[in-house]
Amino acid sequence: MGLELTDKLRENLKRRLEKHTVKNGDHWIWVGSTSHGGHGKMTIDHKQYETSRVAAALFLGLDINSHIQLACHKVECGKKECWNPDHLYIGTKWSNMNDFIAVNNGDDPRRKRGGK
Ligand SMILES: [Zn+2]
Repeated sequence: MGLELTDKLRENLKRRLEKHTVKNGDHWIWVGSTSHGGHGKMTIDHKQYETSRVAAALFLGLDINSHIQLACHKVECGKKECWNPDHLYIGTKWSNMNDFIAVNNGDDPRRKRGGK
């Protein structure tokens, strides 16, 4: 059985997120504990979750127990510690891979927006 996000738990998590966050312009930077990879993490019910994943579950409707859905950072954010829901989207393992390839080829269409 996975984690059940009750209303009470949601309120609790929002408070915990905000308590350990410094707003840097549009970026909401988690300043609590982080994983070795630099991703924010928080413990919920004895299990560790990435803060961006928690934020996506709270604000974007991601299924926190899903093994397929991922909380991904938009290219224009790119900050691992940021959890502003506006800077996140729900992806899958596959869409994340596509992003990775696009960025590395330098031809991500979202980067061309606005021109040079
Ligand atoms: Zn951001």
